[in-house]
Amino acid sequence: MTRKINHIGIAVNNIDEFMALYRDVLGLKYAGEEIVEDQKVKVAFFDIGESRIELLEPTSPESPIAKFIEKRGEGMHHLAVSSDNVEAELEEMKKKGVKLVDEVPRRGAHGTKIAFIHPKETKILLELTEEKH
Ligand code: ZN
Repeated sequence: MTRKINHIGIAVNNIDEFMALYRDVLGLKYAGEEIVEDQKVKVAFFDIGESRIELLEPTSPESPIAKFIEKRGEGMHHLAVSSDNVEAELEEMKKKGVKLVDEVPRRGAHGTKIAFIHPKETKILLELTEEKH
C-alpha cells in the first residue's frame, strides 16, 4: 500500500469566512461541503494536488470540534492518511498496543470509513481514511 496524505483537517468557527481565502486567494478548487451528523460538523473540501484541505465547522456546542476550538483555538485539527482497509489496520494496531480513539471505524464525509489514532501515539491527531470502493 502506498500511503498518501488524504487531507488535512482545520477547525474553524465559520467556513464561509474562509471561502474567499482558500478558493479565491489560494486558488484551490472547492470540492463541496457536507454535514457529518455523527461528529456534529459541517465540512468543506478544497482540492490541493492529490490531497485536500478539510475545513471543519461545528454545528453544535457539543461537537468535538467546538470543544477543540474552545480549548486550543481555530487551527489544524488532524492529518488524514489513506488506508486500504481501516478495520484490518485497527486490528493490527490493537495487537501492537497502539492507543486508539476509535476501536472501530466510523462514517466520514463522502461515504468514507475513518478512524482516529490517539494523539499520544503520533503527537498529532491522525486519521485513517478509507475511500468508498
Ligand atoms: Zn478528516
